[in-house]
Amino acid sequence: MEKVIDEKKQGTSLNIEPKKENSRKLFIESYGCAMNFSDSEIVASILAKEGFNTTQKLEEADLVLVNTCSIREKAEQTVRKRLEKYNAVKKTNPKMKVGVLGCMAERLKEKFLEEEKIVDLVVGPDAYKDLPNLIDEVEAGRDAINVLLSKEETYGDISPVRLQTNGVSAFVSITRGCDNMCTFCVVPFTRGRERSRDPQSIVEEVNDLWKKGFKEITLLGQNVDSYLWYGGGLKKDFKKASEIQKATATNFSQLLKLVAEAQPKMRIRFSTSNPQDMTLDVIEVMANYPNICKHIHLPVQSGSNRMLKEMNRLHTREEYFKLIDYIRELMPECSISQDLIVGFPTETEQDHKDTLSLMEYVKYDFGYMYAYSERPGTMAARKLEDDVPAETKQRRLAEIVKLQREHNHFRTQRFLGETVEVLIERESKKSNEQWSGRITQNTVAVFPKEDYKVGEFVNVKITDCTSATLIGEAVGYSENN
Ligand code: SF4
Repeated sequence: MEKVIDEKKQGTSLNIEPKKENSRKLFIESYGCAMNFSDSEIVASILAKEGFNTTQKLEEADLVLVNTCSIREKAEQTVRKRLEKYNAVKKTNPKMKVGVLGCMAERLKEKFLEEEKIVDLVVGPDAYKDLPNLIDEVEAGRDAINVLLSKEETYGDISPVRLQTNGVSAFVSITRGCDNMCTFCVVPFTRGRERSRDPQSIVEEVNDLWKKGFKEITLLGQNVDSYLWYGGGLKKDFKKASEIQKATATNFSQLLKLVAEAQPKMRIRFSTSNPQDMTLDVIEVMANYPNICKHIHLPVQSGSNRMLKEMNRLHTREEYFKLIDYIRELMPECSISQDLIVGFPTETEQDHKDTLSLMEYVKYDFGYMYAYSERPGTMAARKLEDDVPAETKQRRLAEIVKLQREHNHFRTQRFLGETVEVLIERESKKSNEQWSGRITQNTVAVFPKEDYKVGEFVNVKITDCTSATLIGEAVGYSENN
């Protein structure tokens, strides 16, 4: 998983009425990928039972938690800047305790306490259930840390507190960790080995969300295609499982089917896939269930076979094209998005041209593109010199961003004159007279509000578009409403 959600603060909780007796105030903010945002909802739930209500006001918080990202150097710098901010606030709110969660906490461990004096608490992604004990330690005046990675933990027994939610769409985490060792990535070191959550608890959470009025869920994992439930334990130990466990195991395509059938009107999305683990039956299940959204986020990182090898991405561009062709054969309307890295060590002009030609072949609907950022402890950092000059990285990045923007527009233009189903999520950022929502292909559409409401499925006739947004007029409720 590389896709980073923009850095947004998290504050109030929607679903939990602040418990009168919960007098302590928790301010929690998250950075990085959807997994971190989902984990913060788990943390808020664990601490709600300990007497914490979430607040949006930093200055009134008893406990401030920042859920950190380590995917690029910039992400870590952002967190250090926030800690400076907390330092300033602590002067007027001396009782405030500060804790760091997530991948940077796991990567730095004790060093975080040494380097950042404002930090009282360091907790890794698998140790959130230990928070109550760790907070007691801190309140007793001692620093506290738990960065143990787990073979079992999936938090499947915790009902998340929905934070920063519009009451329409929610994350449901299905698997944790990653066994792939892409040479540029810190995730396997900060989130541990792959383990999957009991499908029963996933379906229960989806049913509960439907009862609460949610209309869309995103099944989350660093590598969802690798989902495999066989009674608990690490994915890598599946080979040691009993015959009955193997015969009754649930893989990702089976889980998708289970969830799609459990709530036929609930929109279902999933993120993030890895081409080397995606199986054709996942594409077939998507094609057979109208409530599974027709969008696949399929990170590729590079279009050069030599670079893919250096990145330890276990597929070739040709195998990737076969996957794209099969998706387009079964679901011509399906949108596809990418992650790309430019300037990986030893990348040549020809490797870069291979990436541009791959983009021409796929013509992605949108993508997330970055210049290579060396991450301490990764295979690439240990074995490869970061030898592509910064200006070359920036020039190549600008070229793929420019090409992607052209393809964005090529893809949005195909909806002109079409009537599409939009799930209303919120007010348009550009006009409070317009609603904003997404179509099954994950593209944003805006249209005049009339009497429609957030959470409704509306058919919209598309009359115009930009490279990122569809513009139209509502023509009535969708049959799914
Ligand atoms: S699949 Fe690769 S890039 Fe994605 S989380 Fe795993 S190691 Fe990182």
